[in-house]
Amino acid sequence: MSQETLYKVGDLVPAAGRYVCTVCGFSIEYLEKHLAYGVKFPVCPVCHAGEEGGAKAPHEDFWKKVA
Ligand SMILES: [Zn+2]
Repeated sequence: MSQETLYKVGDLVPAAGRYVCTVCGFSIEYLEKHLAYGVKFPVCPVCHAGEEGGAKAPHEDFWKKVA
């Protein structure tokens, strides 16, 4: 049974690393220096998941940590 933690738009990025949009596969990397400012997950710039009318609604989790 896989335990995958997913995040939604507006959640604070919890740790440095690479995160992937589980809808389209777009990945984004956050470094420690970014997180110092309290970075939050964005709407996916490729498939617009997390946006009203997008592949995922704003309240749905879709960002996944991969590295
Ligand atoms: Zn996407």
